[in-house]
Amino acid sequence: MSDLTSQLIALANDIGGDTEFSRAGGGNASVKTDGVLHIKPSGVPLATLAAEDLVPLRIDVLLDALHSDEEVDGDPVRAAARRAQIGDAGGRRPSVEILFHALIPDPLVLHLHPLTANALTCNEDGPALAREILGDEAVWVDYIDPGVPLARGVEAARDAHAERTGRPAPGIVLLGNHGIIVSGATYDEVAERTRFLTDRIRAAIDAAPAPAPEAADDLPADRRDALVEAFRTALGSEATASSCEGHARTSSSAQAGPVSRGPLIPDQIVYSGSFPLVLAGDEDEAGVTAAVAAFREAHGRAPIVAVVPGRLVIAAGDSPAAAQNALATYLDALRVAADADRIGRVRVMDERERHFIENWEAEAYRRSVAKEG
Ligand SMILES: [Zn+2]
Repeated sequence: MSDLTSQLIALANDIGGDTEFSRAGGGNASVKTDGVLHIKPSGVPLATLAAEDLVPLRIDVLLDALHSDEEVDGDPVRAAARRAQIGDAGGRRPSVEILFHALIPDPLVLHLHPLTANALTCNEDGPALAREILGDEAVWVDYIDPGVPLARGVEAARDAHAERTGRPAPGIVLLGNHGIIVSGATYDEVAERTRFLTDRIRAAIDAAPAPAPEAADDLPADRRDALVEAFRTALGSEATASSCEGHARTSSSAQAGPVSRGPLIPDQIVYSGSFPLVLAGDEDEAGVTAAVAAFREAHGRAPIVAVVPGRLVIAAGDSPAAAQNALATYLDALRVAADADRIGRVRVMDERERHFIENWEAEAYRRSVAKEG
């Protein structure tokens, strides 16, 4: 294992183990040695990433794919990954984000969906706030669909930044409604940049006035239990998870972005759904069932999360872990939106951006089912 590889694994484990920066399989990490990109496969958490998990891909092949306009069969990132792959991946699949890892020249690249930084990236005032808070130390990229379009957007924004400042692009890239890319030559450099941007953005949030907390009455425990069980039954789910404290109370008003306006980042769509089912809190079982049916009718799919604004958040899933992850992802979104509103106004993904992920996910799901069948 090269020294750079051990530094990457340490970074992934140290930073990825913190839910501020990464949850479940989210985020990504890569190291470049001798023209080869070694990248975390999909589905492996950063927190437990080991050197033997890394998938080796030829950087020149990836960059050719990034810059080529040739039509390819199927998903262009998958096609590029197949051509760039060195040896047998043994079922490990490199992520859709390989291309932006390849184009950043720094040897160590970490990609995260961090909660503090996303208060800035998920913001209507994102570009102006980024300049104000991070100056020329960060490159801003507006939200772009994942895969080739995003990688090209990152490259164009880095080039424009270098052109404007007359210096090489900095090791911080802010991805609108998505997350961050932090890169560098050593563990210390990447860790320091991650700390720097997080501290600066945290300080800006803390310096902005906090909204007066809205005081919704507590839901009685038996009402809560009845709603959770009615939601589970209406969906036919195996498991639920719920919260009636913290951001489930303080940041879940009917006006909150993730409650009424839409999702903040693609991961939220994948794990918690684009919109929650909003309940009044006084529904009986038939009322919850009717609300779920109306939601299906309106959105073409079942809800994963239900919210009683200011009082309760419920998530359902096929397993306790899935329900827990859906809940945690949604509570993260509530926190990010509340922080975003403090320093500006939260930007939710628009309808076109949302539909792309919803359909893209469905497509990925269909492919995975087809493969197993
Ligand atoms: Zn990402």
